[in-house]
Amino acid sequence: MRLGQNDRVTDPRAFRRPDTKTLSPRAISTRAAHPPAPTVPAQPPVGLPVYRTAVYGFDSMQDYADVLGGRTAGYVYSRIDNPTSDAFAAAVAALEGAEAGQPFASGMAAISTTLLGLLNAGDHVVAQAELYGGTFALLSSVLPRFGITCTLVPKRDGVETSSRDVAAAVRPETALIYAETVANPTMSVADLPGLSAVARAAGVSLVVDSTFASPVVCRPMEWGADLVVHSATKYIGGHSDSSGGVVVGGAELVSRVRAMRAELGAMLSPDEAFLLHRGLQTLPLRVERHSTSALAFATAMAAHPSVASVMYPGLSSHPDHELARSLFSVGEAGTTMYGGCVLVTPRGDASAGLALCDALTIGRVATSLGGVHTVVSHVPSTTHRQLDDTALAAAGIGPAAVRVSVGLEDSADLVADFTQALDRL
Ligand code: PLP
Repeated sequence: MRLGQNDRVTDPRAFRRPDTKTLSPRAISTRAAHPPAPTVPAQPPVGLPVYRTAVYGFDSMQDYADVLGGRTAGYVYSRIDNPTSDAFAAAVAALEGAEAGQPFASGMAAISTTLLGLLNAGDHVVAQAELYGGTFALLSSVLPRFGITCTLVPKRDGVETSSRDVAAAVRPETALIYAETVANPTMSVADLPGLSAVARAAGVSLVVDSTFASPVVCRPMEWGADLVVHSATKYIGGHSDSSGGVVVGGAELVSRVRAMRAELGAMLSPDEAFLLHRGLQTLPLRVERHSTSALAFATAMAAHPSVASVMYPGLSSHPDHELARSLFSVGEAGTTMYGGCVLVTPRGDASAGLALCDALTIGRVATSLGGVHTVVSHVPSTTHRQLDDTALAAAGIGPAAVRVSVGLEDSADLVADFTQALDRL
């Protein structure tokens, strides 16, 4: 039995143990190994209980075999399912408007297990070329070793052009189309309705990594995506203290991904799930604040004489601004939210980007994004270090480009901190 929100465990057999009173005398080691069963309260808990167990007991060998064989619902082993981890994935599915969700140990665990769960040797993937580095490596060098090939389609200006280019890359053996809602680090926005039309015409699934947007800014299933993946390590967790991933979508596709995870073992631990679930409950508040601050920050940076360019979909100068406005949600304050990441490129060579990062007093040099603290990284020497100058230029990344994950600090303080650092360049 998979416990639902309203199910109550009142049957004491669910926690059957040797009765230490009636079966005494038993040695202390036996009593230590079989302590009295915990009482499961009849009231539903307000906080999320942590099911910190790897193993679940059964009344009989037949029960065990039935659950393991999928004939009866239930928990067997936390590498396969865990109530706390499942509750976290169900919470993300509810935010995305998806039928089902499954939890993973990291964003890359979610992405790799999803692709391995849906693809076979001989299959082909069409992906937008602007991808997180780990996903790029998976598609361009790991999966080809197992007979799965990929065409990376560079995103050209113009919404229709990019979807037409993706359509042109589809082959008879294409099995999946892959994109990121907001791509790292240029903040380019995927034409989700266009990509979904291409996927539907080809009869294949559209899988979207929506980590940068979070379900608060954009819900790709509303625009035709079949599966949505997240690195929950970023905005969903939101505090830079836990790693996790999640995939949500239709029940049939999600169950295929779950079956692959059971074999590969990339499960989310219940302790991490608890932290991510707690973070998720304040996600709308945080993301609206990240978005408001990032727009104010991007506007101020664009006006600084030492800045060559600012890429943020909330700025009308961004090539995908209109597309973003049509896909992204309006916050409680009545304005469209564009997320919390901004690409700031100071004038000069790489040393200008490094000097900007090092001169900050609030912004911290660190990897990752989406947390409480403002975090910066010089893109060419970190996340995109594998690209040479020509490849960087082709990807729209200048030699001094700095990715800023705008945190929850006061936005005027942030602007002042970056302004003093830019003034020194
Ligand atoms: N997807 C995107 C867009 C990311 O930025 C990242 C990490 O930075 C990942 C996936 C991978 O997530 P994780 O680090 O949780 O494995």
